[in-house]
Amino acid sequence: MRKKSSVLLIYTGGTIGMMQDAKSGELKPFDFKSLSKQIPELHKFDIDLSAIAFEEPIDSSNMNPDIWIELVQIIQKNYNKHDGFVILHGSDTMSYTASALSFMLENLNKPVVLTGSQLPIGIIRTDGKENLITAIEIAGAKEKGESIIREVCVYFEYKLYRGNRTFKYNSAHFDAFKSPNYPALAEAGVNIHYNKNARLKPTKKALISHTKLDNDITVLKLFPGISKKITSAILNTPGIKAVILETFGAGNASTDAWFTDELKKAIAKGIIILNITQCAEGSVIQGMYETSAHLKKIGVVSGADLTFESAVTKLMFVLGQKLTHQKTIALLQKNLRGELSN
Ligand code: ASP
Repeated sequence: MRKKSSVLLIYTGGTIGMMQDAKSGELKPFDFKSLSKQIPELHKFDIDLSAIAFEEPIDSSNMNPDIWIELVQIIQKNYNKHDGFVILHGSDTMSYTASALSFMLENLNKPVVLTGSQLPIGIIRTDGKENLITAIEIAGAKEKGESIIREVCVYFEYKLYRGNRTFKYNSAHFDAFKSPNYPALAEAGVNIHYNKNARLKPTKKALISHTKLDNDITVLKLFPGISKKITSAILNTPGIKAVILETFGAGNASTDAWFTDELKKAIAKGIIILNITQCAEGSVIQGMYETSAHLKKIGVVSGADLTFESAVTKLMFVLGQKLTHQKTIALLQKNLRGELSN
C-alpha cells in the first residue's frame, strides 16, 4: 500500500489567521485552533498533517532574523519525520522569510512552501482556503517516492514560485506576488502543473541548517537629487559591513565625483557595496553604460538580478559565515539557491 505523505504545518501568523478586534476594528492574529476550525477540509486530506503553532502568532511586519532561526530549527528538528513543510505567514514579509530560509537551509531536498492570504480565513471571500489547501497538496506531492518540489517556495493565488525570486507587489489583489526574473514552478488549475525544468536539482547531501545571520547592513536607494550629506551619513553608519546600493535601470548611478568618492571611501574601509536595480525586472550589468562602468572600476559588487529581498537576506547569510573579504564577495556573486540567473 502507498505510504501517505506527511506534511508539517507551521503557523506563524499573518492575515490568514486574523480576526477583527471588536473594539478597535484592527486585524489581529488569533490562535491556530480557531484557524483550523474554519477549515474542516484539513481533515479530508490523504496526507498526514501535523501542526506547530507559534504561541503568539505575529503580523509578519514583526518578522525578524531570530524567528527565521527558530523556523530553520523547527524544520531541521522535524526534517526526517515529514515529506514537506507549509509555513503560514503574513504576506507582507513573506518573500524575505522565503529568501532567508532558502539560504539558511542548504541541501534542502523537500518542499518548504510559504503561504498566507489577503483576507482572513473567517471571511467568506477569503483566498486563504485555496492557498492553504493547495500549498499542503504541493508540500505532500511525490513522484516515484521523491518530493516533486525540493526548495523554499511561495504559493499564492494559483502560482508556486521560487521564494527567493519573489516580492510582494500588490496589497489589494489576491494575486499579490510576482517573480519577474524566474518562471513559476507550478500553476494550479483543475490539476497542478509542475514546471519541472525550472526546479532546483535534487541532492543526496545531508541538510545543513545555517543559524548565523549578520544584520549589520543598510540600504542606499538612489534618486535624482540625493544629497552628499545623506549619502555620506548612510555609508558612514557605525559598524556597517555592507550597503545595498539601489541603482537605476541596468545598475546605473551618478558619475558626480563626490558620489564616486563617497563610495570609494566606504569600499576602502572594507564595506561591501552590492548593486541591485530599482527595476522590478531585469538585471544589473555593470559596464553596460558609462554610468555603471565607474562602479565596477571602484569595486562595487554586482547583484545581477537579485531581488531586494534576496539581497538583504543573502547578505545577512553570507556575512554570518565570517569569511574573508574576498570569499564573502565571491559567495555573494555565486548562485547558491537559484536566486541568481547565470
Ligand atoms: N499584515 C499582514 C501580515 O503580513 C498582511 C498579510 O498577511 O497579508 O502579517
